[in-house]
Amino acid sequence: MSVPTNIREITEAIRGGHTSAVEICRETLARIEQRDGDLHAFLTLEASAALERAADLDRRRSDWDRLPLLGVPVAIKDNICTAGVRTTAGSRLLEHYEPPYDATVLERLVAAGAVPVGKTNCDEFAMGSSTENSAFGPTRNPWSLDRTPGGSSGGSAAAVAARMVPLALGSDTGGSVRQPAALCGVVGLKPTYGRVSRYGLIAFASSLDQIGPIATNVADTAATLQAIAGADPRDATCTLAEVPDFAAALTGDIRGLRIGVPRSLLADGVDPQVTAAFDNALEMLEREGASLVEITLPHNQHAVAVYYMVGTAEASSNLARYDGVRYGFRAERSESLARMYERTRDEGFGAEVKRRIMLGTYMLSAGYYDAYYVKAQQVRTLIRRDYEDALTQADVIAMPTSPTPAFPLGERVADPLQMYLADVFTVGASLAGLPSITVPCGLSAETLPIGLQLIGRALDEATVLRAADAYERMARYSRLEPAC
Ligand code: GLN
Repeated sequence: MSVPTNIREITEAIRGGHTSAVEICRETLARIEQRDGDLHAFLTLEASAALERAADLDRRRSDWDRLPLLGVPVAIKDNICTAGVRTTAGSRLLEHYEPPYDATVLERLVAAGAVPVGKTNCDEFAMGSSTENSAFGPTRNPWSLDRTPGGSSGGSAAAVAARMVPLALGSDTGGSVRQPAALCGVVGLKPTYGRVSRYGLIAFASSLDQIGPIATNVADTAATLQAIAGADPRDATCTLAEVPDFAAALTGDIRGLRIGVPRSLLADGVDPQVTAAFDNALEMLEREGASLVEITLPHNQHAVAVYYMVGTAEASSNLARYDGVRYGFRAERSESLARMYERTRDEGFGAEVKRRIMLGTYMLSAGYYDAYYVKAQQVRTLIRRDYEDALTQADVIAMPTSPTPAFPLGERVADPLQMYLADVFTVGASLAGLPSITVPCGLSAETLPIGLQLIGRALDEATVLRAADAYERMARYSRLEPAC
């Protein structure tokens, strides 16, 4: 029998006695060992803890039927807290930080039978679109080692794309699950804001941050969301809404589904190969019985600017806690307390994080607060209304996930604005708080993956998943694997 690689194959193989959780875990660790030298998707491996957990699952036979993720290895982005396992958020400042508790998502994955195997690389505090802002060196794209995997959840996306793990968690503030998933040719979902608990997620921009799954296919993405979604008394922003049965939504039937297409967004700066793959995907969806509706999102042109105002303002406030006293790194031999704060933050944070703290602090300072922060919040409301209006005419909105396929490592590090533009298509759904998925929809001439993004109504992940799954069944791009 070939190595099981998705949730159904793994859980069935264990339940059927064809393999064991320990065996799956060993194979996974061996693949990581073999492939991660080139990719650097992982920052920390939890080999012995994973093997112990797997052995425990193998013994608990009577529980097997109740564990939807029985023995499924999972990688966790390194800004999600794991008790006693170092959690760096890609920052020097937290290089040796071991949280005293597990994030809710982790508890829930483990309760569902999953086996966490390690922590994945990311841009520092999830700020970036290429994983090059990690203090521990970049991750490489499994489709082409001299390209970025995207970011900030680049390690999670690369780990899944290279089939080192079947599942990973990322976090998405303005695109950090969707953009790397698209650039690595895998599926990634940002749930509705509030669908998944943020307890234990290291905060970047609290009104935008959401944890989401990355997997090789839509069914596994749905199963992972099922495990992690739902109310959590430890996160007051987490919705009390019922969690539907996402697997039941994957009917393959999209007859009558209305897909909104914001044509005017596809004008400037979009790689023609991305546009061609997008048009091709729309045609296939139409052939399956969906109808295309032309929509407009009149304020979306301001989404990147608004995102970088709201996001940096919240970041400057959230990152104020890293003062050298309460967490992680502290600069040594400072002559005064104030100097110690300064030096800790100067030595601990990287350039992009400092840039955002400065931008955000400026945005929130007296005299500028009304001109920038309040204005940005007002435009955010207009953007949200654009999406909500469009979603009365359409059931989902389709657009590319990223304007280009994976770009070369190093290409944009010196040009933050260029880097920020990697998010033109993803920040809108983040500002509006809506669920959004990316699913592979083609390969460029250089064999680099291209992603199709589908955005749905608040709390309607089911429709987004149904549409993406129906598309995946026809298009089958999710089955393509990088040669590495
Ligand atoms: N690339 C965006 C940024 O740099 C999004 C990051 C994210 O979603 N965490 O802020």
